[in-house]
Amino acid sequence: MQTKLLTRRFDTPNSRSIATYLADGGYAGLKKALTGMQPAEVIEEVKKSSLRGRGGAGFPTGMKWGFVPVNSPKPKYVVCNADESEPGTCKDRELMEKDPHQLIEGLLIAAYALLSKQVFIYIRGEYWYLIAILEQAIAEAREHGFIGKNICGTSFECEIVVHPGAGAYICGEETALLNSLEGYRGHPRIKPPFPAVAGLYGCPTVVNNVETFCAVPHIIVHGGDWYRSLGTEKSGGTKIFSVSGHVNRPGNYEVRMGYPLKQLIEEDCGGIRGGRKLKAVIPGGSSVPIMTAEEVEQATLDYEGMAKAGSLLGSGGVIVMDETTDIFMTTYNLIRFYNHESCGWCTPCREGTDWLLKLFKKIARGEGTTADLDTIRRLCPNIEGRSHCPLGDAAVWPITSAMKKFPEDFLKHVKPATAVPSAA
Ligand code: NAD
Ligand code: SF4
Repeated sequence: MQTKLLTRRFDTPNSRSIATYLADGGYAGLKKALTGMQPAEVIEEVKKSSLRGRGGAGFPTGMKWGFVPVNSPKPKYVVCNADESEPGTCKDRELMEKDPHQLIEGLLIAAYALLSKQVFIYIRGEYWYLIAILEQAIAEAREHGFIGKNICGTSFECEIVVHPGAGAYICGEETALLNSLEGYRGHPRIKPPFPAVAGLYGCPTVVNNVETFCAVPHIIVHGGDWYRSLGTEKSGGTKIFSVSGHVNRPGNYEVRMGYPLKQLIEEDCGGIRGGRKLKAVIPGGSSVPIMTAEEVEQATLDYEGMAKAGSLLGSGGVIVMDETTDIFMTTYNLIRFYNHESCGWCTPCREGTDWLLKLFKKIARGEGTTADLDTIRRLCPNIEGRSHCPLGDAAVWPITSAMKKFPEDFLKHVKPATAVPSAA
């Protein structure tokens, strides 16, 4: 059973036009913030909502905004991470395609809260068709006095620029994104300093995901307490889950935080296709540990619930696999992805994902032995926690969890290792 808040206009005809948005109470949050709230009060309301970053990391949004130094003499920037590239995740695409004004309103409220005059939407290159939609919505918002100078008749001014990426997964990592936005190669930076203190052009910058910004107008209109009450105490509000794989009705589903994962799969998505049994789920985009059918039974869709069930909420890309799935082949596919997308900056990830891919290829060719599985097991901890950015960890988690939870799917691909003859 969905709770449609961010997605509620998706089925409205002409949902992306400003007329539809205004008729449904759109831009009321911006007007309320600009005319009745101090910037610090806006941040306080977002803190109360317990909204956490919807890109994957789940960092408290209000806290992040609170890190931006109020009296910095430097300009401040708001950057929307629309580089949605996590395998299995397609919620931001639909939010921008069907309701761009909701995002624009959220961005403008954030800009006001942070006293920023410049917003950038960094959008993945493959979403080229969404750029025209966003540009159109920005033009409409400008015509209605929501962008530019004297917004809503106040002294607040703000501009929004849409900047396309060029198709690199790593540019979804916020500091690689900032480098790319500045015109440099998309390599992640060392953190700290975090972007809130030194981000774009070395200035205080808030980077948040599309879905995170889209929640902000609702928080301002209805209050942080109301938003939090939709979810759990620590994971407030609703969340959109992109369900793909072997379900009867794949798609984006918005539910309250704390919703049972089993219910999402069995009821909302119509269960497993062909009446087969569930085998495994990767619940948060591919960069999180895989779950068994037993783990899915008790899992709730909130940050704490997913951790308790042995995985992470991540970006909300729920990849469902039925009993016919060969988890070795699933994992092989993922390591090909991470190896391809590794930016090559640091040795553990660059070399490690390459070695892992070579071992998976060897096993897939039918030439692998149990010794190769041992080598994979030894390699993974040399990448995890030793890489410069989270891509290294992300590459390893699906592998280590799959080998632990589905050992038979790996063993069936290898022969026993032959003992090395001793020198004697
Ligand atoms: P992170 O935990 O390092 O940071 C989360 C956010 O909190 C960042 O914006 C960071 O700047 C901020 N932050 C953390 N500590 C801070 C502090 N002390 N002061 C100020 N700010 C602070 O995680 P991350 O590297 O940003 O993201 C990793 C996640 O991204 C993974 O969980 C993965 O699921 C997700 N991901 C999403 C996609 C996608 O397409 N949506 C793609 C790849 C990865
Ligand atoms: Fe690049 Fe991988 Fe190192 Fe991240 S972990 S900086 S993607 S090489």
